[in-house]
Amino acid sequence: LEFEDFLIKRELMMGIFEAGFEKPSPIQEETIPVALTGRDILARAKNGTGKTAAFVIPTLERINTKSSRVQALLLVPTRELAMQNSQVTKTLGKHLGVNVMVTTGGTSLSQDILRLEQNIHIIVGTPGRILDLAKHKQVDLSECTSFVMDEADKLLSPEFTPVVEELLTYHPKDRQVMLFSATFPIMVKSFKDKHMNNPHEINL
Ligand code: AMP
Repeated sequence: LEFEDFLIKRELMMGIFEAGFEKPSPIQEETIPVALTGRDILARAKNGTGKTAAFVIPTLERINTKSSRVQALLLVPTRELAMQNSQVTKTLGKHLGVNVMVTTGGTSLSQDILRLEQNIHIIVGTPGRILDLAKHKQVDLSECTSFVMDEADKLLSPEFTPVVEELLTYHPKDRQVMLFSATFPIMVKSFKDKHMNNPHEINL
C-alpha cells in the first residue's frame, strides 16, 4: 500500500513526503483508511510504530480550512507529548493552511486566549487546561468533530478520567473518537463502552 492509495489531499501528500515518509507503516495502513470514513478507532500501539502520523493524517485530511472553528482536539497526558504531537501535526499539515495550537497546564492562560482568536483548527494539549478554556467559553468545541487520545492509558487515570469525560460533553454528539494506547487497562475498556461507537479495533 502507498500513501497515494488513501486518496488524500495533494497538500497533505506534500507534507508526508517532506517528513521523509515513503510508505505507510503497518499501523498507518490499518488506521488511515478506516479513520478517513469517520469511524471510531481503538488502537493498541506502542511508540515507534508511526502511531502519531496514523491519527494525525486522517485528522488533518478532515479539517475544513475555510471554517475558522476548532475541529479537532488531540489530547495527551504530558506537555512533552503535546509539543511532539503538535510538531508532527505542523510538519505534516504545513501546506494545508491548518492552524495548530498547543495548550497545557503551567503556561499563560491569557496567551492562550489571544491565540484562540486566530482561527485555530486543531488544539493539542492536556485535558485540564482545555476544560478550563471550554468552561469559561474561551474555546468553542461545538464543531469539534475529532476527539483523539494519545497514550490513553495514561490519560484515563483516576485523576484525569473525570476531566476527559467532562471535556467530551462540550463536543457534538456525532464526533469521531480515536483512542491510542499501549495497554488496555479497565479504565480504557470502560471508556470504550461508554463513549465510543462501534470502534474499529486495531491490535498490532
Ligand atoms: P511514532 O510511533 O509516532 O512516535 O513514530 C516513530 C518514528 O517513525 C518518528 O520518528 C516518525 O517520524 C517515523 N515515521 C512515522 N511514520 C513513518 C513512515 N510511514 N515512514 C517512515 N518513518 C515514519
